[in-house]
Amino acid sequence: MEMTSLSNVSVLKFGGTSVKNLARIAHVCQIIDTARKAGPVLVVVSAMGDTTDYLIKLATQVSHTPDQRELDLLLSTGEQISITLVTMMLKSMGIKARSYTAYQVGIFTESVHSKARIVDINTDSLHKAFAENEVAVVAGFQGVTTEGDITTLGRGGSDTTAVALSAAIGARYCDIYTDVDGIFTADPNVVAGARRLTEVSYDEVVEMARLGAQVIHPRAVELARQYKVTLRVRNTFKPDDPGTTIDGGKNMEIYRSVSGVAIDKDQSVVAIMDVPDRPGIAGAIMRALAEKNIVIDMIMQSYQPKLGLNNITFTVSQADLDQTISLLTAQKEELGASIVEADPDIAKVSLIGAGMAHQPGIAARLFTILGDASINIKMIATSEMNLTCVISKVDAEKAVRIIHEAFELDKV
Ligand code: ASP
Ligand code: MG
Repeated sequence: MEMTSLSNVSVLKFGGTSVKNLARIAHVCQIIDTARKAGPVLVVVSAMGDTTDYLIKLATQVSHTPDQRELDLLLSTGEQISITLVTMMLKSMGIKARSYTAYQVGIFTESVHSKARIVDINTDSLHKAFAENEVAVVAGFQGVTTEGDITTLGRGGSDTTAVALSAAIGARYCDIYTDVDGIFTADPNVVAGARRLTEVSYDEVVEMARLGAQVIHPRAVELARQYKVTLRVRNTFKPDDPGTTIDGGKNMEIYRSVSGVAIDKDQSVVAIMDVPDRPGIAGAIMRALAEKNIVIDMIMQSYQPKLGLNNITFTVSQADLDQTISLLTAQKEELGASIVEADPDIAKVSLIGAGMAHQPGIAARLFTILGDASINIKMIATSEMNLTCVISKVDAEKAVRIIHEAFELDKV
């Protein structure tokens, strides 16, 4: 088949709230109809509303630990409902369209359930659809292994499907339609003065998403960065609004130093105390957690030169807390540590900005602001693009508001 350049294809991804019911699906089809007049259209959809949560609930009622292969096949049905309904609706409007599961397209993933990564995409059927002037409507979130098993990409994975398909067909833009106006300087539900950013860099959005902002899946942004796909996060209910454009960041030199403040209340602190100060210990601890695919963050080891003992402290997601504690407790004796402690009542508050590096004044200001508000900082981590403090969960909202105000994020 002839592979024309398809940089003009519009890739439109609609999230669960955008296809929550038939009225919303009808609205989405209007947006598709408008896009179709400008060129070929590829649509990616999530499951309707809370369908995925509902399916997970059903599965866990059958078994506490549902079989992973069966669970992925079950979850993939959510997106299969929305692709077919969107396609039927388009057809009833007289628009040529065809739905595709990941299996039908050939979105191949590694053989891992519940968080598979895409390894290859066959674009033949999509090219065929475009050549025939058909809107291709593809199920997000799912993939297939070379053995023919259905996999899923992890919660929120439809964004990743949309970006991966954009990259595979060479589309320049990928529009992520959701129920908010774009990427904000903070969660508008928490900070009344939060501002919508018109442009933001991939790097900043990856940081924001990783540190708790929940607009777009970080893996999707990483993929977009790698393949130079420009993302636009837009509100389905304001189709004329351009939303937030995410790209390489054009005006880096004159870029604002701080772009947002994020909050993550889904983390817990875990500490293993008095581990002997000798080579290999940290490796042994982290290996045990890595083997269970537990992602840890903000790892800190306090060095106590005279005692010969260290404390190792880090954060894990709430969901991994119990398992983390039991893995460390099982290892405790062998490691020669005294106790394992956990604090689930914490929040991570992060200041994010591409222009923050090499500006020591920002850290000083942040810590002072929190101190002046009598908010105690339990842990601190810094990187090129963020400053993160662990504080008590009860202080989280207040901290975000005062930081937002002090750094004048309402004026960006
Ligand atoms: N339906 C899946 C979920 O709820 C994937 C997605 O919405 O992106 O996680
Ligand atoms: Mg969803």
